[in-house]
Amino acid sequence: MSAHSGTGCMFCEGASAPPTILLQSPRWNLYRHADPTPIAGWMMVATRHHDTGLDVMCPQESAELGVILRAMSIAVRAVTGAERVYALTYNEAVQHLHLHAIPRFAADARTKSWALADFYRAVQASPELAVPADVATDTAESIVQHLLSQVQTDPLLERVGFARLSTAPISSTP
Ligand SMILES: [Zn+2]
Repeated sequence: MSAHSGTGCMFCEGASAPPTILLQSPRWNLYRHADPTPIAGWMMVATRHHDTGLDVMCPQESAELGVILRAMSIAVRAVTGAERVYALTYNEAVQHLHLHAIPRFAADARTKSWALADFYRAVQASPELAVPADVATDTAESIVQHLLSQVQTDPLLERVGFARLSTAPISSTP
């Protein structure tokens, strides 16, 4: 088995400032892209343990990944109005298999095909070009809600077992 955590890994629970996990299943964490983010609705799904590529997925991860990417893409399109959703994986900066689900807008040439890479670098160099953090957070929350709603009609997605990490009490008043 791979190590679950590692010193200096930005995704692991032991990291000083891991990104917020929006949903978690036994094998996967769902995030929005960390700030600065170029596009509202840029989501990520990552294995919870360390592994560095599609070739080392276990059979369960392999079976679940297509289900998750389909559901993520449906949710990203529905919430953002994007015409298409791209999926990218490099697994270079973080030692977890992780895929980016990225909305592509016909009206925004910066998001199209490899122009996206130039846009990404521009935002990292000039964070003022990024989406405001509250907009990115609100959009991600809507995507999470859409994805959870799909569980009602997608038995394979239900089997993946995504849930929120903690459920705040609805009300503290009796
Ligand atoms: Zn890690």
